[in-house]
Amino acid sequence: MPTITHFVNNATWSGASDRTTDIINPSTGAVAGSVNLASANDVDVVVQAAAKALPGWAATPPAKRATVMFEFRDLLKKNIEELAVLLSAEHGKTIPDAKGEIARGIEVVEFVCGIPQLLKGEYSEAVASNVDSFSVRQPVGVVAGITPFNFPAMVPLWMYPVAIACGNTFILKPSEKDPSVVMRIAELFAEAGLPEGVFNVVNGDKEAVDALLDHPTVEAISFVGSTAIGEYIYGRGTGNGKRVQALCGAKNHLVVMPDADMEQVVDALIGSAYGSAGERCMAISVAVPVGEETADRLVEALTPRIRALKVAPYTDPESELGPVISKQSFDKINDYIDQGIAKGAELVVDGRGISLQGYEGGYFIGGCLFDRVTTDMSIYTDEIFGPVLSVVRAETYDEAVDMVNDHEYGNGTAIFTRDGDAARDFWARARIGMVGVNVPIPVPVAYHSFGGWKRSLFGDHHIHGMEGVRFYTRLKTMTTRWPSGIRSGAEFNFTGGKDV
Ligand code: NAD
Repeated sequence: MPTITHFVNNATWSGASDRTTDIINPSTGAVAGSVNLASANDVDVVVQAAAKALPGWAATPPAKRATVMFEFRDLLKKNIEELAVLLSAEHGKTIPDAKGEIARGIEVVEFVCGIPQLLKGEYSEAVASNVDSFSVRQPVGVVAGITPFNFPAMVPLWMYPVAIACGNTFILKPSEKDPSVVMRIAELFAEAGLPEGVFNVVNGDKEAVDALLDHPTVEAISFVGSTAIGEYIYGRGTGNGKRVQALCGAKNHLVVMPDADMEQVVDALIGSAYGSAGERCMAISVAVPVGEETADRLVEALTPRIRALKVAPYTDPESELGPVISKQSFDKINDYIDQGIAKGAELVVDGRGISLQGYEGGYFIGGCLFDRVTTDMSIYTDEIFGPVLSVVRAETYDEAVDMVNDHEYGNGTAIFTRDGDAARDFWARARIGMVGVNVPIPVPVAYHSFGGWKRSLFGDHHIHGMEGVRFYTRLKTMTTRWPSGIRSGAEFNFTGGKDV
């Protein structure tokens, strides 16, 4: 059974801590391996390695850094099959879904292959006589990333390619539930020609995270995970003077207008509510049909499609819905379903009680559909993070918009309509970071930036795209005078020699 260690200076490293935790195969519930949990001292060793590598890497010309990225991109593409299997075996998602997330991650690497262009500064000639001004962006230093279980390849790839291309060195603390794919990717990055100490992986739990948050050498932290932990990370990290971005939980609504193409809506909801077992921060977990008639048509069309979903482990090529990640998650989702029933929501499709032959210990839950959910129910207010879709009926379009805007989370939302006026009004008014029009999961491409509003994001920067470049660099502005023999005398009035 594999033991996952850490990755420092382009090699695996066990660390000195003797704490470990089991990696569980979610399709069977059986132990599949173990992962070392770093102590604060282990974290310090890794931070020192990253700090040592920093001056050389920061001084490497951006175009040369980009050559490593080109090579890294090719290696990721060449090895995508192997990476997808490693990922699915620990996460449980289907192989096409695993390949999809790796492909989206590769797009970020492709984006930073153009890092010389992205880091180009600004120059103003003659801001005063013989005075020029220019701005550059410089790396922040040693950066850490802390990532969730649900996208073990893609979410880390949102972070470290951008940070590293900008000239920083990086320490990744992946989820302890599915750390293997990142370890293999770290090997590929080294093979691509990345110098030692530039990209490091430290595995662990709260102890490792706290050590990163408190380490004086770590300058910036990117976090993706649940809101409770993200808020904690943001508070502690910024309290220690670090730059922090924390992308957090979600409850994403899809508004169905009476004029929407119902077949399109149903296709969209099946993929976005039940894909990856609902364990996506951009999953749609609330459908808001406008008008009773729209709602009746929606529930009627959705029901047979949900019942027909193929629930199976990732090893079955026909699987559409794999297991959820853990026993704890399985119990939590079942508990929410009980709460929904107890509060009077109508469970139209009940995906509980699934037992697959040979996988009786697996954490499988079929697609669930609740109708007549109200906004005071916990199945509406809370992020369930499982294959559970709630239908909340709205009488009017304005009621639907208010619902979207009043929810504490603001990650993603979508509207399905054929009416351009409604669509434009919706995206303009939504207090949400990412909005789709007839697109259920509006995840921005790598050269735009990903991030939510409200309690879905703590910090000022979204992730990847130009926002990523800004987060991982500091702006510096120079004002230079080359007087060619002209003396202007002492100045006391702060005008740079201009008349006022
Ligand atoms: P999580 O918050 O439990 O864990 C995220 C990371 O924090 C992991 O690396 C974990 O080891 C660490 N961590 C956990 N508890 C900690 C503690 N007490 N102190 C310090 N560190 C701790 O999240 P998860 O269950 O792995 O992932 C699911 C969550 O992530 C969902 O809420 C989902 O919405 C969110 N998510 C958000 C986005 C986004 O971009 N907004 C993307 C993906 C996932």
